[in-house]
Amino acid sequence: MNATVPGNCHRAGCASRIPAALTSAQLCLDHFVDEAFVRTDEALGRCREGRSLDSEGLEWLLSDALAVVKNLEEGADEPNPEQRDRMLELLLVLSNVHEYVANQSVRIKRPA
Ligand SMILES: [Zn+2]
Repeated sequence: MNATVPGNCHRAGCASRIPAALTSAQLCLDHFVDEAFVRTDEALGRCREGRSLDSEGLEWLLSDALAVVKNLEEGADEPNPEQRDRMLELLLVLSNVHEYVANQSVRIKRPA
């Protein structure tokens, strides 16, 4: 079992375990969700102002959403209501961003 344990969060002063789904982010769930909120809020702000999003940023948002969904699945056995609420809220904000993009009210900058 130990082979798949990714270790502890890389944030200074945080000793929380990194869930398997967040191995690439090297963050615990709380810190990952914190960061994802910042990125997502930024993207939503850009959408509302009619500014363009870059495709790289969009991919970030998409991978955030996938990581959140994976964590929801993995945590289904031992639910933590507070974390669950934050993740669901994050998914809601993410889906708002995706809606803006799907409606093409936002231009996507593609690398030339
Ligand atoms: Zn942490």
